[in-house]
Amino acid sequence: MRILLVDDSPDAMAVAKARLAHEGHDILCAGGGKEGLAAAARENPDLILLDVDMPDMSGFDVCRRLKQEAATCSIPVIFLSGSGGTEDKVKGLDLGAVDFVTKPFDAFELRARVRAALRTKHLQDLLRKYALIDPLTELPNRRALDERLQQEWARLLRHGGNLSIIMADIDHFKNVNDQFGHAVGDEVLRQVERRLADGCRETDMPARYGGEEFVVVAPETAAQAAADFAERLRISICCRPLEAHGKTVAVTASFGVAGHEGLKSPEALVGAADEALYRSKAAGRNCVKR
Ligand SMILES: [Mg+2]
Repeated sequence: MRILLVDDSPDAMAVAKARLAHEGHDILCAGGGKEGLAAAARENPDLILLDVDMPDMSGFDVCRRLKQEAATCSIPVIFLSGSGGTEDKVKGLDLGAVDFVTKPFDAFELRARVRAALRTKHLQDLLRKYALIDPLTELPNRRALDERLQQEWARLLRHGGNLSIIMADIDHFKNVNDQFGHAVGDEVLRQVERRLADGCRETDMPARYGGEEFVVVAPETAAQAAADFAERLRISICCRPLEAHGKTVAVTASFGVAGHEGLKSPEALVGAADEALYRSKAAGRNCVKR
C-alpha cells in the first residue's frame, strides 16, 4: 500500500521512513502542507502521516482541506506531533484523523498504528467496491451508474460537449427463465453483459440497471452517434446464439437512446432513454429507437 508522509523536517521524515522500512509499503514524501495536499490529490495514497507543525500550512488546516475534497476525503490521516497535549489530540481526531502519534515515536507503536489504519482502509475500499458492483454480472450497478451520471452531468455543465445514454432490455427474457431455468437465465445475462462490454469504448460505462435491463453511459457522444453505436451493440447480441450450460439460446435486445440536448438533469436523460426503449418494444423489439 502507499503511504504519504507530510513533514517539513527532513530529520523527522528520515526517522519515519526508517521506522516504516521493511513493511513493504511505497513511501511518498512531501516537505510541506501545500505540497502534501497536491501529492494527496495526485497520488491517492492509502494513508497520510501528517505533521501538525509546518510553516506554510498547519497539519490541521491540511486535514480540513483533505476532508472537504471528494477525491481525498476517504484517505485516512494519522497526525504526527511533537506535543502530546490532549487538546491537540482531540482537535486532530475531531477533524477526521484516525489516529494521533506523538514524536519521537516508538517504532513498534508507529508500525502497529499504521497497520491498523491500513486494515480499516482496505475494508472500506472493499465495501465501497462491492457497494458499486452488481454481483451477477460484475458490472457497475445502479448506484455506480447514478454516481457516474452525476459526474458526467457536472462535467457537461462545466465544459460543454455531449452526453448520451443507451438503455437495453433483453426481449422476452422471462421465456428464457421459464424454458431453461434460472441458472441458464443468469448465464445469459452474464454473456449479454460481456457482449455489451466488449462493444464499449474505454470511456463508456456499461452498467446493469436492474433485471434484464442494461445502460451504457456514452460521454462525448452525440445522440445520432450513440444510436449508431447502439445498433452495433444490438447486432452483437442477435448475430449468434449464446451457449449457456450446454443449451443454445438465441436472444435479442431492444434499445432506447437519448442525448442530453434539451434536457435538464441526468434523471431526465434516463427517462428519455427509457421512453425510447418503450418505443422500440412497441415497434416489434430487436431494434433501436431514439
Ligand atoms: Mg514540523
